[in-house]
Amino acid sequence: MATWSLFDTHTHFDVSDFDHDRETLAYQAKQVGVDALVLIGFLQSRFSKLKQTQHFLNGLSDQIAPKSYLAPGLHPFYIEQHLVEHLDDLEQILRTEKCVAVGEIGLDTFFKEHKNNAILEKQKQFFSAQIELAKQYDLPILLHIRKSHADVLAILKQHKFENGGIAHAFSGGVEEAKAFVKMGFKIGITGQITNPNAKKLHTVAQQLGSKHLVLETDCPDMTPLCCQLSNQQHTRNTPVNLPFVLEGLANSLMMEKVELAHELWNNSIAVLKI
Ligand SMILES: [Zn+2]
Repeated sequence: MATWSLFDTHTHFDVSDFDHDRETLAYQAKQVGVDALVLIGFLQSRFSKLKQTQHFLNGLSDQIAPKSYLAPGLHPFYIEQHLVEHLDDLEQILRTEKCVAVGEIGLDTFFKEHKNNAILEKQKQFFSAQIELAKQYDLPILLHIRKSHADVLAILKQHKFENGGIAHAFSGGVEEAKAFVKMGFKIGITGQITNPNAKKLHTVAQQLGSKHLVLETDCPDMTPLCCQLSNQQHTRNTPVNLPFVLEGLANSLMMEKVELAHELWNNSIAVLKI
């Protein structure tokens, strides 16, 4: 058994990339110390698979597999596919399943198509509606933010949102990170921290310090540098790689891995109110 408990706070472990070996990976993840993971929503059409995956994983003994938690939501990047009635389907899950958060939600204006007024307006409407659902069910939120940190902060303030959550795969600067922390958010660190050239992310982690950070794989994406096979354009990321994220962060913060892991675990359960 591993000497630490790690919490993978952001996974898409429900997607079909894992259909052939999900159970094996769950056992392997537990063996390297991944004791818990969050399954995050992104599309209404995937809600039933998301729930089914959580039920399946929690049907395995927690002595040999990570405990898995549900965070359903409608992702801003897929905004064109969301319909207003999908919010009702989201609410139905919040009402009938044990959920730890609403996610992933937020704004994404990385591609110029998404900066188009009508699209951005629709993103803001779905973000606002989901913030209200989180308030109604007294849940934190898991944020996806690309090139829209100021807008996201402004919307959170408009809604007087106080349940906090996690700003996942954080790509903003130190001042933005501090603004999220002030609003009760932790900053999600992915495998990008294993890249010495990710200077902005290292600065954010170092300036904030371990007490405001949590770990995530964002699998199947964001593969740590060390796990990227040179003969593949994209190597699938899995929860089994989470210790490499821990190691990258420990190196960046010049901390002992065991001590850091302990602190990050406590941050995760505090912010998700587990
Ligand atoms: Zn994600």
